[in-house]
Amino acid sequence: MAKKLKVLYLTPEAAPLAKTGGLADVALFLPKSLRELGVDIRVLMPFYQLVREKIRDNGLPAPKPGPRFTVIVHGELTPARVHTAKLPGGVTLYLLENERFFSRAGVYGEAGFDYPDNHLRFIFFSASVRALLKAVDFTPDIIHANEWPTGLVPAYLKTLWKDSPRLKGTRSLFTIHNVAYQGNFPLDVYPATSLPWELFSPAGVEFYGWVSFLKAAVLFADLLTTVSPSHREEIMTPEFGFGMDGVLRERKASLMGVLNGVDYKTWNPEADPHIPAKFSAANVAGKKRCKKRLIEELGLDPSLGARPIIGMVSRLARQKGIDLIFPLLGHLLRNEALLAVLGSGEGWLEERLSAAATENPGRLGLKLGFDEGLAHRIEAGADLFLMPSRYEPCGLNQLYSLRYGTAPVVAATGGLKDTVEEFDPKTGEGTGFMFHEPATESLALALGKGLALFGAKSIWRKLIRNAMGRDFSWERAAGAYLELYEGLMLRDTEPAEKGPVSRGTRRTP
Ligand code: ADP
Repeated sequence: MAKKLKVLYLTPEAAPLAKTGGLADVALFLPKSLRELGVDIRVLMPFYQLVREKIRDNGLPAPKPGPRFTVIVHGELTPARVHTAKLPGGVTLYLLENERFFSRAGVYGEAGFDYPDNHLRFIFFSASVRALLKAVDFTPDIIHANEWPTGLVPAYLKTLWKDSPRLKGTRSLFTIHNVAYQGNFPLDVYPATSLPWELFSPAGVEFYGWVSFLKAAVLFADLLTTVSPSHREEIMTPEFGFGMDGVLRERKASLMGVLNGVDYKTWNPEADPHIPAKFSAANVAGKKRCKKRLIEELGLDPSLGARPIIGMVSRLARQKGIDLIFPLLGHLLRNEALLAVLGSGEGWLEERLSAAATENPGRLGLKLGFDEGLAHRIEAGADLFLMPSRYEPCGLNQLYSLRYGTAPVVAATGGLKDTVEEFDPKTGEGTGFMFHEPATESLALALGKGLALFGAKSIWRKLIRNAMGRDFSWERAAGAYLELYEGLMLRDTEPAEKGPVSRGTRRTP
C-alpha cells in the first residue's frame, strides 16, 4: 500500500468551534474530504476561550490535554500546551493553549476592534508549530497554511527551520482566502518574528515600510492557492490585488485557483431541517410552500405572492455591492418583485436597508443580524438570488442558490463568474444571470432578464433543473488539492521563481 500523505492544516479558525467567516467552513470540510481520500491530515488552531465555551455549551467531548512545551517569542520563553480533539467527521484537531494570547472572547478582536497584540498572538501560533509537532510526534510531508495569521510558517520553513531534522523535507502550500487581509504591522514588530534582518527589504517581507505576514507566505510558500480560478487572475491585477499583485505576479507559476466546495449535507433541500417543506429537482412542489412561509416570516404581502422573490443573504460591506440596488428599489418593489434580505455589518448599509424596508412595507422583508435558519429559508423560498459583489474570491451563497433552485443573479467576478453560467432561453442551457459592470444599470439588465423569464414557466423549470443538477461538492475540491499535494511532493522544494525577488515600485496600499 502506498504511504499515506501526511498534512498539517494550519488555520486561525475552524467550524464549528471558532467561526468568523468562510475560512472556518473550509477548515472543517476540506480536511474531512481529504481524509476520506486517504490523506493523514490534522488541523491545528489556537485554543481560544470561545472554543472552550463552545465545547462546554454543546456538550462536546473535552479535548485531551497533551504535553506542555515552551516557545521563544520576542526573546521570552512562552509556555504552551497541546490538546487533542476530533472535528466532526473524524479529523484530528490540535488545539494550542496559551493563557496570555488565547484566553479571550474573540478570534481576532472584540467589539469591532482587532486585538493590539495580534502580531504576537499569531507569531506565537506560527512559531509553536515546530515544538508542537515534536510534542505530538507528527512529521508532515506538507504544511497547508491559511491566511495571514499563519503566513510566517512558510517563511520559517525556509529559514529558521530549514535544518530541522523533522521539518527539513516538509513542503508548504498557502491558501489566500481574501487578499485584502494581509497582517501588515509596523516595523518595530519585526524583531518579534525572529526572521533575519536581511529579509526586511522590499524584495523580502517588507511591505511599504511595514512587515507583512501575508507577503512572507506569498514569497516563501512552495505553492500558493486562492479560492477560484478567476480570482487567481484578479489578485494579480492592481484593481484586486490590494498592493500584493506585483509579488503575486512574480509567483504566478506557483499560484493556482481551486474553487471551494459546498457541504451538501448541510445544504440539501431534500433533507434541510431549517425549511418548512422539502423538495428536489424531480419534485419542486415543496419550494412553493417554502415561498409561502418566507412571505409570512418576513411580513411580506401575501396578495403579491405570485411575484418573484429576490433573496439576499450577505455580510453588509461595500465589497458585496448591496448599494448598487438602491436606485432600483422604488421601481422594482412597486411593479415587479419582492425582496427578502438577511444581513449584518456596516452601519450605513444597515440604515439604508432599514429605511428602504420602512418605505416599502410588505414588499421588502429585512432581518438585520446573523440567522443560520433564515439563511436556509431564504435560499429555499426565494426565486432569484442577488449577489452584486464588487469582488468575490469564491462566494458560497450562489452555490447554495443553485442547489435550492433559486436562480442566481451575480456580478461577473471571481468565483461567481466561475460557478454561474448565463442562461440562454433559446438553447435552455445555463444556470443564472450575470452582469459585467459594477453599476446599477448593468445589474438592472441582468435582473430584468431573470424577472422576465420567471413568467415563462416551462423555461424557468428548465433553468431550475439545470441549476439544481450542478455539483460543487467538497469531494471535487479535495481531489484538486490532493493532486496539488502529490505534485508538490514530486517537485524540487525551491520555488521555480526563486523567491524572494525584487519588485518594481507600485502604488501604496
Ligand atoms: P463572505 O465569506 O465574504 O462573507 P461567502 O459567500 O463566501 O461570503 O460566505 C458567507 C457565508 O455566511 C454564507 O454561508 C452565508 O450564508 C453566510 N451568511 C452571511 N451573512 C449571514 C447572515 N446575516 N445570517 C446567516 N448567514 C449569513
